[in-house]
Amino acid sequence: MSHEAQPKSTRPPFSAHTLTVSGARPNGQDNSPVNHPVTFTSTFHSHGEAGAGDRVYGRFSNPSWDGFEELLGQLEQSELPALVFSSGMAAIAAGLSLVPRGGTLVLPRHSYNGSLSLVAELEAAGVLKVRTIDITDTAASCAALVGADALWLESPTNPMLEVADLPVLLEAARTAGVLSLVDNTFATPLLQRPLAQGADVVIHSVTKTLSGHSDVILGAALTSNARLRERLHGYRTLHGAIASPMDVFLALRGMRTLSVRLERSQANAQFLAEQLSTHPAVRTVRYPGLAQDPGHDLASAQMDGFGSVIAFEAGDSAEDADRVVAAFRLITPATSLGGVETLAERRARHASEPQSVPRNLIRLSVGIEQASDLWWDLSQALAVLEG
Ligand SMILES: *Cc1c(COP(=O)(O)O)cnc(C)c1O
Repeated sequence: MSHEAQPKSTRPPFSAHTLTVSGARPNGQDNSPVNHPVTFTSTFHSHGEAGAGDRVYGRFSNPSWDGFEELLGQLEQSELPALVFSSGMAAIAAGLSLVPRGGTLVLPRHSYNGSLSLVAELEAAGVLKVRTIDITDTAASCAALVGADALWLESPTNPMLEVADLPVLLEAARTAGVLSLVDNTFATPLLQRPLAQGADVVIHSVTKTLSGHSDVILGAALTSNARLRERLHGYRTLHGAIASPMDVFLALRGMRTLSVRLERSQANAQFLAEQLSTHPAVRTVRYPGLAQDPGHDLASAQMDGFGSVIAFEAGDSAEDADRVVAAFRLITPATSLGGVETLAERRARHASEPQSVPRNLIRLSVGIEQASDLWWDLSQALAVLEG
């Protein structure tokens, strides 16, 4: 439960890939379990004054969260453990609570639509002012920081797969005294570590690639700043945005295989993106792993891989794209991403999706199936647009 900073030098020199497997295990004494037990309790034995290290009540802390929070903290190269939340949106709401009341938030026009909707609601209520940016325009994004209070970033963006120049934007925010928050859901800490690149706060939808099996809704927030962590923790406690012990167990179990899942899904995504780019019924393919993608050079410089989400325009209309999604026989038509199974969704079917997202854009969350089977399914589905 210690929230003290662990000096980096005391950590073993293992790679993040090994840490996903070996990090944050219970101590190695005889008879201790190799996995963290799940503790179902709403309260803890306690009497007298409740001290800082005391668990006290299940909304304040639960030992079932500790292993997950420690491991994610290590992977994100945070000085402090992560904070697990009941959902990605709960973590986003906590992150946005750090923006001073009435302050100006700069955020990408193609952020996750839940983030955009929440920010719009906060703006309508007079809680904050919003400035949207095109993150592919680094100079304009930096200029938007003048007089702002906070910068929200997502890279690659959901679902447009645009890549932000993170080192430059985070440095510009720091220089301008602007709080920076990065939604790192698409990259995961194995591909990108925004705290090390200068971000103040990192947010995750743990629902996605981190847990990886489409079986939980969870979120997380990270910071190396003890004061900011205290505020995020206070938000979680007082808004009751806490996670079920069982869900956190599943997420930590999922994270143990993050490295191999990502290796496979990413290789599949690269293969499918290349195949799709030459298909006559496919217009634009968005994937930073493609040499011709506008985000390719930036992603190559700042990421350790290109991730497992692709977006492509099928045919010429929403109807064309819907016909393709309806024709899949292996790929599951569903929202969400980052699971072991491949999911496809025409994003503009959501009214909350920005108008600038093409109506025929299909987001493909590539799973760990055999690549040739996935391509078989994509080609037979795209055939409905031919002839
Ligand atoms: C899904 C998602 C979220 C929201 O997370 P939930 O766990 O669904 O609440 C936030 N950001 C991104 C990039 C996402 O893909």
